[in-house]
Amino acid sequence: MNNLEQTLSIIKPDAVERNLDKEIKEIFKYKGFNIVKEKKIQVTKAEAEQFYKVHETKPFYNDLCVYLSSGPIVVMILEKDNAVLENREVMGATNPKDAKDGTIRKKFGISIDKNSVHGSDSVDNAKKEIEFFFKD
Ligand code: UDP
Ligand code: MG
Repeated sequence: MNNLEQTLSIIKPDAVERNLDKEIKEIFKYKGFNIVKEKKIQVTKAEAEQFYKVHETKPFYNDLCVYLSSGPIVVMILEKDNAVLENREVMGATNPKDAKDGTIRKKFGISIDKNSVHGSDSVDNAKKEIEFFFKD
């Protein structure tokens, strides 16, 4: 059964800074994702705080928002059957140390905070996150 979904992916500042955005996009395409929309932007700290609001009570929240707003990022809408889960698999575990071989975070992640990519964690959140970055 087909289950076409869209999910939001972000190539985070540590990866864009190292010019890895092209290579990461190639991985998504090779894995069968269609990049429906993409843009390179820099968010303000306030925008990062809004985006990561679910984490506002976490001890890492402030550093996370400072970091996401620290440099250019590439935000993308990825489309594929079961895109939300598939993207999480291609990304790998939050901590690159725990990520499986062949995943983006294993390959490029520097640390738990500089882990190169973001991906929506549910279909519901994917809709909200896509709306957040691509309103029109
Ligand atoms: N994060 C962090 N320290 C932690 C946990 C998470 O800096 O102890 C950062 C990390 O960049 C992660 C983001 O916060 O990607 C969001 O955390 P989440 O648990 O949602 O992980 P993800 O969904 O990105 O795998
Ligand atoms: Mg998450």
